[in-house]
Amino acid sequence: MLPVVALVGRPNVGKSTLFNVLTRTRDALVADQPGLTRDRHYGICRLGDSPFLVVDTGGLSGDDEGIDGLTAKQVELAIAEASIVVFMTDARAGLMALDRDILIDLRKRGKPLIVAVNKTDGLDETTSLADFAALGVATLVPLAASHGRGTDGLLEALEPHLPADAPEEAPSADLGIRVAIVGRPNVGKSTLVNRLLGEDRVVVSDIAGTTRDSIRVPIERDGKKYMLIDTAGVRRRARVEEAIEKFSVIKTLQSIAAAQVVVVLLDAAEGVSEQDATMIGHVLNESRAVVIAANKWDNLTKYQREQCETSLERRLDFVAWAERVFISALHGSGLRELMRAVDRAHASATKQFNSSELNRALEAAYEGYQPPLVRGHSPKLRYAHPGGTNPPTIVIHGSRTKHLAESYRRYLENFFRKRFKLIGTPLRLEFRDGE
Ligand code: GDP
Ligand code: GDP
Repeated sequence: MLPVVALVGRPNVGKSTLFNVLTRTRDALVADQPGLTRDRHYGICRLGDSPFLVVDTGGLSGDDEGIDGLTAKQVELAIAEASIVVFMTDARAGLMALDRDILIDLRKRGKPLIVAVNKTDGLDETTSLADFAALGVATLVPLAASHGRGTDGLLEALEPHLPADAPEEAPSADLGIRVAIVGRPNVGKSTLVNRLLGEDRVVVSDIAGTTRDSIRVPIERDGKKYMLIDTAGVRRRARVEEAIEKFSVIKTLQSIAAAQVVVVLLDAAEGVSEQDATMIGHVLNESRAVVIAANKWDNLTKYQREQCETSLERRLDFVAWAERVFISALHGSGLRELMRAVDRAHASATKQFNSSELNRALEAAYEGYQPPLVRGHSPKLRYAHPGGTNPPTIVIHGSRTKHLAESYRRYLENFFRKRFKLIGTPLRLEFRDGE
């Protein structure tokens, strides 16, 4: 499970600026998808050697849109789940009374703590830090977040507190495809998990190797193996007394990171909510294969079903390539189709290309439609080769590829998707100039 770093501090000290620096996605194709809203509070940091989850708690406690009124709880959860808290202060404002109050509160929680002194740009670093030494926190890190300065020092200070990431699990056929089932509270996750587990036959706590924090539940359906990973549903099943366990965005993101295929469950009666779309955004940021399942289909009138289909089409056009299935976890209908879609998504995500088929495809795409001139530049695409799986990646060499229009990138992506029958997986195109 990805370790968690919580950013805490007064408003305006630069938390969201730092959050953006740490979590900026290197995958511009994902970042620029129209219709996809980036989560401004939760993201994964991939700078440095060990990835971790960053939570901007300031963003959560504000009264901006939030997450269905769950925000105060989410701040509590974030700090409770954090391996370390970064307490952020403002060198220009100096040490304020509110800083001291926040620190008193943080100290009660007994979490490892470092103080990041931001906005040191143009100031004398030693003097700026000296002011905050009065807080009595051992580690002070100078930052200039808006200039992207100081992150190396910050990562260095964080590193010893981040539990070593477990080595990437081997995609072993014996263990089955790792599937996470995610969704807002009450969409039917635990009902679905229990259905898939086969009603009352399996008691999760009896499965060897399951602990409260790492639950992997093997299941078999139609002769195929799957590993359900750490879903709220499984957890709840394991500990009945926690039936009203709080919904945790962090747990959801950790599950997404650990999965190969993510099933995003929606409540069909409600259509696609903002939070659903944001969750799918996280799945894409992690480049995971995805299946969208509209649950509680049993409960809908014909009119409501049409409404739901329209909502899926309109609000999720940035994942038009993901399969939609309509299920009833309660009655068990549609589950075979769901698991087949999981299989197809996984097969696409792990598809191996060879260079000659890629080059033929690139040629065909180029013949069909040539890159438009952008400010007088005419980008050239010369050849392609495979760049890996999960997600499938195609590396395209050429010249002036920086000037390739976004619309042309999309054209190529769709062309390759169709040609190689890729369903349910992100596809990454990497462009390189020269040899
Ligand atoms: P938050 O409320 O803690 O999330 O703070 P923001 O990230 O929104 O930053 C508040 C203001 O401080 C913005 O105007 C930022 O541009 C500015 N800011 C953030 N980091 C720095 C920095 O390193 N140096 C300077 N000079 N300004 C900064
Ligand atoms: P979770 O919070 O996502 O784990 O949701 P639950 O599995 O606890 O389900 C929330 C409520 O929705 C419960 O009352 C379920 O019985 C109900 N529910 C779940 N799946 C279905 C379904 O397919 N059809 C109908 N009608 N109700 C469902």
